[in-house]
Amino acid sequence: MIDRARRSAPGNSGGRHPARWTEVRPEGLFVRPGGFFVDPLRPVERAIVTHGHADHARPGHDRVLATTETLAVMRARLGQGAGRRQQAAAYGETIEVGETRVTLLPAGHVLGSAQVLIEHEGARLVCSGDYKDVADPTCAAFAPVPCDVFVTEATFALPVFRHPEPAGEIAKLLDSRHLFTGRCHVVGAYALGKAQRLIAELRRAGYDRPIWLHGALMPLCALYEAHGVRLGDLRPATIDVAAGGRGRVRAELAGEIVLAPPSAIADRWARRLPDPLVAMASGWMRVKQRARQRGVELPLVLSDHADWDGLIASCVATGAQEVWITHGREEALARALEVRGIEARALAMVGYEEEDA
Ligand SMILES: [Zn+2]
Ligand SMILES: [Zn+2]
Repeated sequence: MIDRARRSAPGNSGGRHPARWTEVRPEGLFVRPGGFFVDPLRPVERAIVTHGHADHARPGHDRVLATTETLAVMRARLGQGAGRRQQAAAYGETIEVGETRVTLLPAGHVLGSAQVLIEHEGARLVCSGDYKDVADPTCAAFAPVPCDVFVTEATFALPVFRHPEPAGEIAKLLDSRHLFTGRCHVVGAYALGKAQRLIAELRRAGYDRPIWLHGALMPLCALYEAHGVRLGDLRPATIDVAAGGRGRVRAELAGEIVLAPPSAIADRWARRLPDPLVAMASGWMRVKQRARQRGVELPLVLSDHADWDGLIASCVATGAQEVWITHGREEALARALEVRGIEARALAMVGYEEEDA
């Protein structure tokens, strides 16, 4: 790890080093000449939010700058807490914030997810938020942004994490459905991003039957559809109280695919499904023990984060002389980057959890 004293050399562009105009505060990364935080953990006056996951999009900010899609997600999830004054930026649109120029660029993580390019006095700092360098039919593709300093996430920053091709994981699910014809396949998937990606990948694999949803997944699927992401025939897995069903599970779910939030796959809700076979879609399913702990019979390794190789390749591709690592396992990635001639250090930020792996 590199301490601040050693990081005084200017970047490629010869501008003033971003370490001189940023600081890590209890709220998160603060950009002094812009007067804003990126993904602050606590309510602040001015926030730039990379995407809608709960560990990045916190409630209660006064001003929020984000993509149109992220702002829509925040309003859907946080209601009044989504920010008193919201400013939308399109991908690639440059906005002056204080003495900085801010541009949001696709991060390939979930709908609306953005990397934040911050330019100040000739230097370029990019905060990736969460990202993946793998094609995803539900969001705009990640591309490395040339910069002097790159702030990377590190959720899966260990060599053991090498994500398989999504198509192979989808095939496992469809094969299992053919093998266990009468069983209801209930798949745990995070409500923002993973659920929609899983549906879109199933559609891409030619699966055109109705896909049944736990009620908690309906609003964000509707939001994706409203932003032009086609998900096909989606139906509620339970008949709600308003319709006189008291949350009754539909009888016709035998042999069908049902998506539910990870918290629901092990509880009473899932046990009411006809002969449920429990699956889960997550990068963590690479760790067999995690699957066993959750009672998952069919682990599907589908991640919305870059894997070990993806993280290294993406950091290198930015051309950054220096990488700040946050939000996960810093040590291994820092070593791997230093071997490649890139200065790296952990950007200590507590409070980020895995909502979305
Ligand atoms: Zn995320
Ligand atoms: Zn995150």
